[in-house]
Amino acid sequence: MAMSDKRKEALDQRINQIAAVLLPLLEISGTGYATYVVVYLLCVRYLINPAQDIQSAGIEPRQGTGIALLIVYFLLLLPVGLTFMRLLQVVWTNPGVVPLGDPLSEKKTAPTKHFDRLDAYICDYEGLPQWCDACHSWKPDRAHHSSQLGRCIRRMDHFCPYAGGIISETSHKFFVQFLFYATAYTGYVLVLMAIFLAERIDKLDSKPATWIVALALAALFFLFTFGMFATTFYHLSQNYTTIEVLQRGGIHNIALLSSNQTPHPATGLDIIARIQRSPSRSYIVVQTKPFENPWDMGVIANIKSIMGNSALEWFMPLRMSPCTYHRRVVGEYEWGRVVNRMMDEYAAGSFHDGSRRRRRRRRSSRASTSDPLHSSESTPSRLK
Ligand SMILES: [Zn+2]
Repeated sequence: MAMSDKRKEALDQRINQIAAVLLPLLEISGTGYATYVVVYLLCVRYLINPAQDIQSAGIEPRQGTGIALLIVYFLLLLPVGLTFMRLLQVVWTNPGVVPLGDPLSEKKTAPTKHFDRLDAYICDYEGLPQWCDACHSWKPDRAHHSSQLGRCIRRMDHFCPYAGGIISETSHKFFVQFLFYATAYTGYVLVLMAIFLAERIDKLDSKPATWIVALALAALFFLFTFGMFATTFYHLSQNYTTIEVLQRGGIHNIALLSSNQTPHPATGLDIIARIQRSPSRSYIVVQTKPFENPWDMGVIANIKSIMGNSALEWFMPLRMSPCTYHRRVVGEYEWGRVVNRMMDEYAAGSFHDGSRRRRRRRRSSRASTSDPLHSSESTPSRLK
């Protein structure tokens, strides 16, 4: 039983991996076809240098129009190609996998060193971080076990075979950029084909199948990319991954670094657990309300955490997202308003804990110690 389940899982993984290569190839072929129709059939053979039978039907050569449309076509195609290559490169080489744990390690005994330095992290009712049975390791906040890769993925968004695999914290930005440019490109091809096909039907009474297929493909992919872009960007502005949207409505248990100060008496009753990590570090476990998103920092800050801090970063597929730099002490990711408010209410976190000097010392000691969860692992095949 367990064996056949494993075999089925392996087969599913293989099918997904093949789809994640075939679909991008299909998209590239579709773009090649659109280029043939727009560049050669429409701009060259219809506008710039029409065939004799087209000219005799009263359609004059329109060189200026043809060249202008060609220039716009390639200006729109270029960023689509660049963002798609960057997206595939990141998805295929650096999907953001969490290192595997020791196969013998168990939740009860595994060390929590990675979490003990944080001001706050997502936990269970006893204050332990989330555990992945398949990877034998702790899950950093927002990580999700992907059945397609068989590994935990940081800030996993969804499995997208059209984009070559897993969309996660490393590829989210390039995915959004690709969708943005692809919407503009497919929209342009759609409008172009619609206008000139209508003209051709009107003046020549001809409906070439090549043009109709290009129009239909452009319409289909325009709707698809625009829909994906709109929903992905909206969720990004709320700091939700697609997985978190599906799980929206639940509560989160959050372990907060407890200070020496006494918590506010009115809120003291909400503490569901207290844990002592070391003689100097203890945590309290509190809960968010349903539908509260612990990472929602406000629309602009949410967008910046993925897209980057400057306009150039928003549009260029070069730098990784700021949220991928896991060097902060406050949490795996920057916390949103809900958690910051809790820290204030409970006087929790290193901000409330002693002097600034202590915070600085902790930060510098962290920089010098190597952290297994933050090692620069990039491929899912590496075993620890
Ligand atoms: Zn896992």
